[in-house]
Amino acid sequence: MTALYDRSLEAAAPETLRALQWARLQSLARAVFPANAFVTRAWRRAGVGSPDDLRGWDDFSRLPLTSKSDLVDDQAAHPPFGTNLTFPIERYVRVHQTSGTTGPPIRWLDTQASWDWWARCWGFVLRGAGLGPRDRVFFPFSFGLFIGLWTGFEGARALGCLAIPGGGQDSAQRLAAVEALGATAICCTPSYALHLAEVARERGVELGKLDVRTTVHAGEPGAGIPSVRARIEEAWNAKAYDHAGMTEMGAYGYECAAQAGLHVNESEFIAEVLDPITGRAVREGELVLSNLGRTGSPLVRYRTGDRVRVARDPCACGRTFMRLDGGILGRVDDMLIVRGVNVFPSALEGIVRRFAAVDEFMIEVCRRAEMDEVRLLLEVPDGSTRVPVAVREAVRVDLGIRVEVETVPVRSLPRYELKAKRLVRRADGG
Ligand SMILES: [Zn+2]
Repeated sequence: MTALYDRSLEAAAPETLRALQWARLQSLARAVFPANAFVTRAWRRAGVGSPDDLRGWDDFSRLPLTSKSDLVDDQAAHPPFGTNLTFPIERYVRVHQTSGTTGPPIRWLDTQASWDWWARCWGFVLRGAGLGPRDRVFFPFSFGLFIGLWTGFEGARALGCLAIPGGGQDSAQRLAAVEALGATAICCTPSYALHLAEVARERGVELGKLDVRTTVHAGEPGAGIPSVRARIEEAWNAKAYDHAGMTEMGAYGYECAAQAGLHVNESEFIAEVLDPITGRAVREGELVLSNLGRTGSPLVRYRTGDRVRVARDPCACGRTFMRLDGGILGRVDDMLIVRGVNVFPSALEGIVRRFAAVDEFMIEVCRRAEMDEVRLLLEVPDGSTRVPVAVREAVRVDLGIRVEVETVPVRSLPRYELKAKRLVRRADGG
């Protein structure tokens, strides 16, 4: 096993971590209260008149939850950046915005200190995947307003890797750069890793002969789905690692060499798992996070909308950080109800990706009388009629539901560099 990024934190006793979180939370509270109008307003409404009112974890659990709509509303009322700002605007050095896959984009400002904090958080992620100064990490990513891999790039640099930007290039040029520069790792969404493999196949590039031995995936839960991971690893002859992060929160989740779900970086984040309806702490529910190092634009008790399940056993890697079984299981609000059965789109993806003959797919959902009807659209380049039948049968056996499965023309479905959007809701049966 490779060295940990920071053993004193990652392998700390739980009570040591709790004490560290508490100390950092208190200093965060003192810094943001009353300077940050967004936080102060919400806390005052909850009866917190000063940081000294936070005396223990019970007080913390009474702090209000923050949701994405709170941020959207605040930015709409106070454009363009909203009021979640602890410092005067001139202290901020970076602006980014969310991809807007689940609502209007949110803008986010970072100070130099919080940008450095991002890089540090990514250090845990990349070291978890076994990377170090000898690695050349390629980022096939359009370096625009989306924060995504900007921060990964900074993390690679901070870890001493050679960070290679892959912006302003098409997929073929990126493959050429990976080869010419001897990249040993790539960092992108799982969908894009598969798309690059598709392009390589078309162009006769043998990915397995390149130097890439590690792939790190952000932006989508795909790398946590065993069949997606297996497909990426086979295509690239590399080990694929999952990672979870959010523009508004930070890079909080990462895999270790044991690859037993996602560790949550509890030295930089406080993680809670709550029942999305009752708000009670549960083992499987919505992940609620607080970040401890982004003082300029912090989020406390933020509802991520991601459904997770906490693993009970200690991890073989020696890290004591919380571990999420199977990574991010899905979006809380993406859950489908098909004939009374709760199904996450990721479960359908897990089945479809087991079929090597399927290049790309889409999930069409139509809601009728409070029930979701699902149709899977598959691109099957060899035209096999056996594949849709086999996929339908696998869905029936594994999930206990019947779905329609159809093939569509090759290359008719979209390909994605950033967050894939393979779930489409239709207004009618269409
Ligand atoms: Zn581990």
